[in-house]
Amino acid sequence: MNCYPSHGPALRRKSCQVRVGNVAIGGDAPVVVQSMTNTNTADAAATVRQAAELARAGSEIVRVTVNDAEAAARVPHIREQLDRMGVNVPLAGDFHFNGHRLLARHPACAEALAKLRINPGNVGRGAKRDEQFATMIEFACKYGKPVRIGVNWGSLDPELLARMMDENARLPEPEDAAVVTRKALVASALESARQAEALGLAHDRVVLSCKVSAVQDLIAVYRDLAARCDYALHLGLTEAGMGSKGIVASTAALAVLLQEGIGDTIRISLTPEPGGDRAREVIVAQEILQTMGLRSFAPMVIACPGCGRTSSTFFQELAGRIQSYLRAQMPVWRDRYPGVETMHVAVMGCVVNGPGESKHANVGISLPGSGENPAAPVYVNGVKTVTLKGENIAGEFQKIIEQYVIDTYSKGAAAGEKKPAKNAAHA
Ligand code: SF4
Repeated sequence: MNCYPSHGPALRRKSCQVRVGNVAIGGDAPVVVQSMTNTNTADAAATVRQAAELARAGSEIVRVTVNDAEAAARVPHIREQLDRMGVNVPLAGDFHFNGHRLLARHPACAEALAKLRINPGNVGRGAKRDEQFATMIEFACKYGKPVRIGVNWGSLDPELLARMMDENARLPEPEDAAVVTRKALVASALESARQAEALGLAHDRVVLSCKVSAVQDLIAVYRDLAARCDYALHLGLTEAGMGSKGIVASTAALAVLLQEGIGDTIRISLTPEPGGDRAREVIVAQEILQTMGLRSFAPMVIACPGCGRTSSTFFQELAGRIQSYLRAQMPVWRDRYPGVETMHVAVMGCVVNGPGESKHANVGISLPGSGENPAAPVYVNGVKTVTLKGENIAGEFQKIIEQYVIDTYSKGAAAGEKKPAKNAAHA
C-alpha cells in the first residue's frame, strides 16, 4: 500500500522458543517488547496501575521487582487485579539476594509469576551461591516457570571474574581486562544455564541476558553469546540513561544486533524524568523494531524536519497532533482495523519534498511553505484527492485519515479490495 520497506534482516539467529504465559520468546516468534515497573511492588495499587499502563502501551511482558516479603506477598494480588481488569500481560519477577527465601515462603508469588529473573551474580557467595541458586531453580521447576538468567556487569559474580582474571594473568600473552570481563559475563550466563539444566530446568525454559552499559561492549558480548548457544536472548543496554542519550545508545546497540538476527526480546532501560511517563520505554522499543521493519505496532508519521521554508509552527503542530491521534486510537483500532499498524502518514512542510513524500505514504499532506499559495494538497494511495484550505486543515486532514482507516482496514475490506498506491510498483 505504500513504498516504505516492511522487511527486516534476512537472517534471524535460530533460538530455542520459550513460553512465558501467553507469549512466545525466540524460535520463529516476533521479537517481544518488555518493560519493568518502577513502583514499590508492595504498593499493589500503584504497581497494578503502572503495569496496566505499560501493557496498554504495548509491553508484552511486564517485570516487577520482588525485593522483600511484602512485595512477594502482593504479587498474587497484583496478578488477580490485572486479570479482573482484563489485562493478561505476563508478569516476570526480578529477584536478587533473597529470592530463594522469598519463593520458599511465598509459593503463591511463584505461581502468579510467568517468569523468574535470576541474577547469578546476586544469589549468594561461596558454597551458599550454588545452594541458593539451586533452590530458585527448584521452585521454577516445581511451578513450571521459565527463568531468565540475567547477568549484569554491575553485579557480575566476583568469584568467577577473579578466577578468570587469575587464569588470564598466567597466560603468556594476557588479554586486556575489558576482554576478560566480557568473557566472564558470557561464561557466567552459560555456566548458570548449564547448572540450571543439570538441576532439571528444561532447555526451552531458559532465557539469557548479559547486560552492559556501553554500546560496543554490548555488541561484542551478545555476538559471543549468540554464537555459543541457542538459548532465547533478552537484549537490552543496561543503565542506558536519560532522554535522548538513553534512546540513542539503546538504539545504536540494539539495531546492530537485531540487524544481525540476534535478540528475541528487548527492553529499553531508560531513566525517566521525575514524574515522566514510564511507558516511554515501551514506545522506544516498539519504534526501534518498527523503524527496522521487524514489527509494526502503530501507524508511522513521516514528517520533514522543517527549514527556512516553513514560516510557522503549524506543520510541527500538525505532525505532533496526527502522531498523538494515531497512537491514541490504537487500543481500539488494533482489533477493529487489522493491518492499520502498517499505515504511513506523511506530514510535509513544503512543495520541495512534500508532494513526493506524500505520494509514497498511504495518506499524505503537503503544507504550504513560505511564499506558496495557502493550500495543502492531500494524497491518498499516491493520488491527489483534495486540496485543503482555510482554518480547519488539521481537522479535515484527520477526518480523511479516519475515513481511510475505515475504508481500508475494516475487517470486511479484504486485501484485494484495498486500493493500491499509484506508485506501488516501487514498493
Ligand atoms: S520538505 Fe520543505 S519544509 Fe520540509 S525540510 Fe524539505 S524543504 Fe524544508
